[in-house]
Amino acid sequence: MKKNIVFLTLLLLTKMVFSQAYNGLQKMNGVSQKVYFSASAGERARKILDNVAKAEIYFEKKLKVHPDYTLLVLSPSDWKIYAHPNAIYGIPHYLQDGRLVVASENNDFWKRNTPPVDKLPEAQVRKLRATYLDKNGQVNLTDFFDLLAVHELGHAFQKAAGMLGQRNWLSELLCNVMLHTFIAEKNPRLIPSLTVFPQVTVAGFPLERLKYTSLEDFEIYYNDIAQKNPDNYGWYQCRFHVVAGQIYDSGGLAAMNNLWGALLSHKQKLSDLELINLLKTAHPALDQAIANWKK
Ligand SMILES: [Zn+2]
Repeated sequence: MKKNIVFLTLLLLTKMVFSQAYNGLQKMNGVSQKVYFSASAGERARKILDNVAKAEIYFEKKLKVHPDYTLLVLSPSDWKIYAHPNAIYGIPHYLQDGRLVVASENNDFWKRNTPPVDKLPEAQVRKLRATYLDKNGQVNLTDFFDLLAVHELGHAFQKAAGMLGQRNWLSELLCNVMLHTFIAEKNPRLIPSLTVFPQVTVAGFPLERLKYTSLEDFEIYYNDIAQKNPDNYGWYQCRFHVVAGQIYDSGGLAAMNNLWGALLSHKQKLSDLELINLLKTAHPALDQAIANWKK
């Protein structure tokens, strides 16, 4: 009995510490997920959760794992308290303690990386405006960045499965393959929001703004790129989105399932050659997409 009381006290204490951890934020009520958001970001949080919750159900069915995560939708001032200390405002990210962090407001990072409509070919401008125009008549990437919460959810699934991602670029690519597959299969009307910005960026990003471009660089300088070169990091992610689209278009749902299964079946770090062979056998679309990276 005494043991039970101690146990109960501990439970209460844990619960208290947990709720105190986000006591500057509002908790979303009436949902089974753990969701906290900044004042006046409730509507955005509901919109973002809508996709995340549907994606969670979808991935759980396909991958048979249950992730533990806490979705945080943050204003710039709350970001300073609850996000990764080295992540600039607007860059969505996942932390090992399960925090899945996204911005609640349009911001400098998104604006700076919005393709310059005055310098682009007419066809691309038309596509951008048709996809992302906001009520002020500006190209606004909010609808794209909101979808990235599902990419971060992909990291939570990889962690729950105990997956060794083999390479940083492959873990990131897998998250984008998961995101693209989910949107294509379950919410295809959002495909333009997900694909137009990365496609235009990859086609026309000013190369002088890129310090790193190869997959090898991404591996070696991952922390430097992610924390000190966010625009360069964004360019890599755009390329991973484009590659993920190519993988889905030629391999469908099977490509995601096969890549997931292949990575899960190896608990040791593979050599480059072993990894290439694994990707080849997992799905031809994967090998092809990686080979295309250098072209
Ligand atoms: Zn990621």
